[in-house]
Amino acid sequence: MRQASRLAHNFLPSGNKDSTEWLIAHGVIPGSYLQPEYTIVVVIHEILPVGMLQCNCSIFGDEQSREAIVVDPGDDIANITEVLDRHGLTVKAIVITHAHIDHIGGAAKLKALTGAPVYMNQNDAELYAHLDTQASWLGIQPPSRTEIDSEAREGDQLRLGETGFQILHTPGHTQGSISIWIPAENKLVAGDTLFRDSIGRTDLPGGDGRQILCSIHDKLLALPETTVVIPGHGSNTTIGREKARNPFLQGL
Ligand SMILES: [Zn+2]
Repeated sequence: MRQASRLAHNFLPSGNKDSTEWLIAHGVIPGSYLQPEYTIVVVIHEILPVGMLQCNCSIFGDEQSREAIVVDPGDDIANITEVLDRHGLTVKAIVITHAHIDHIGGAAKLKALTGAPVYMNQNDAELYAHLDTQASWLGIQPPSRTEIDSEAREGDQLRLGETGFQILHTPGHTQGSISIWIPAENKLVAGDTLFRDSIGRTDLPGGDGRQILCSIHDKLLALPETTVVIPGHGSNTTIGREKARNPFLQGL
């Protein structure tokens, strides 16, 4: 089952929707996989840059249960629901990597539309309480706020079908920053902790330059080097690439 999932990500051309039919049509998996004795698990994953700061919102969907996890619905909720509708997905959880407005601004709206609970680390509660101050930094109207339904703590695991999403607490950009590791998919959603060739800024309230380097060293660089990193902004990368080439991490 896992094999089919991994093959999907290795072989599907970008822009092509994950689908068992595509895999069979292109000979990646045999047609016999459609027989009832086989269960194919394919994790849908779309990355949508949202809002004026183009935060990467990740939409993960399970092809079997049609459930979804949405990470960082910062804005442009209509675009996010369009993706959900296109895949026929129901949101099971809304996960926030940290309480900066560009990552959390649309959470209340998405929760109101879907009824899904919001997960966020408790250490960013104060930052979220000051969403209006954050809006004033950007010169925009403050979006509505919502209750946080569940804490996202170090070691917590969410499940999407058979796929585990593990919460890593990676403070430094903010005190409640988390990263989400999906071992079966070989992916890490890093929020604003780690970027391609850069790391998150630490000059905003709650930031700590030493702490972010410790988080990256202890929690992220410890992951397999082939792990695909989806940062909070910009292009994907891998743990191995950043270990070798990220100028902020040399000598760690
Ligand atoms: Zn941020």
